[in-house]
Amino acid sequence: MRTSTGSTASPAAVSDPGATDSDRAPVVLLEHVHRVYPGNPPVRALDGVSLRIDPGEMVGVVGPSGSGKSTLLNVLGTLDRADEGVVRIDGYDVGGLADHRLSALRARRIGFVFQQFFLAPGVSALDNVADGLLYTGLQPHVRRARARRTLERVGLTDRVHHRPEELSGGQRQRVALARAVVGEPPLLLADEPTGALDSASGAVVLELLHTLCAAGTTIVVITHDHGVAAELPRQVHILDGRIESDTRTGGRS
Ligand code: ADP
Ligand code: MG
Repeated sequence: MRTSTGSTASPAAVSDPGATDSDRAPVVLLEHVHRVYPGNPPVRALDGVSLRIDPGEMVGVVGPSGSGKSTLLNVLGTLDRADEGVVRIDGYDVGGLADHRLSALRARRIGFVFQQFFLAPGVSALDNVADGLLYTGLQPHVRRARARRTLERVGLTDRVHHRPEELSGGQRQRVALARAVVGEPPLLLADEPTGALDSASGAVVLELLHTLCAAGTTIVVITHDHGVAAELPRQVHILDGRIESDTRTGGRS
């Protein structure tokens, strides 16, 4: 469904926050964010999280199962709203945006990669990636041309017409990555992107994330794997919904 607020799928409904210094504004700014799941007792999945991530950073969010990593990713990705605190994504105060504006922000500015790939079965890699541009209203042949270029970037030129079930796990994740970045979002969120992969395929996916980051995409990688995190230049450790430490190690040199 399209609303009457815009001629296309309403990304235009989100106005520019200020082009002059938007390059320097943090891509992510959380201030005292709380997310509590109701229950008896309630679960404080995020318990006062403050976090700033600048453009071009690559950040690992590390913590054991149940520590709040996915909840954090959902809040960063505007898939879920904080109960308290401030969430600014790419300059927008998310808490103040109506749902349709939030959807537009998400479609234009945030790419997602999940452990389980979530590709459409029976659909070629090319069309899976091109679907990442559906919100743009671009013509199908333009979407496909961009999808093809992005599949080249992830090294899958020779697999564009393969369907997910004809691809290995690592190749599927590279298709998912291509779909996530085909619209060139400033922020890429990856929840356990190597969790379902063997170590060699996982290494290829991580290498691609580094390449995308070097090209300017801000990346947040959620992982419980300390080996994966150790390769990232900044590591945020989370436990019981709180940030325990935030270190810049420079990762690999
Ligand atoms: P992680 O991704 O680090 O494993 P999650 O963010 O998924 O952690 O979960 C954090 C805490 O919130 C856990 O204790 C989990 O059981 C709880 N939780 C997550 N989602 C829900 C939900 N929809 N309803 C109730 N509790 C939830
Ligand atoms: Mg999780």
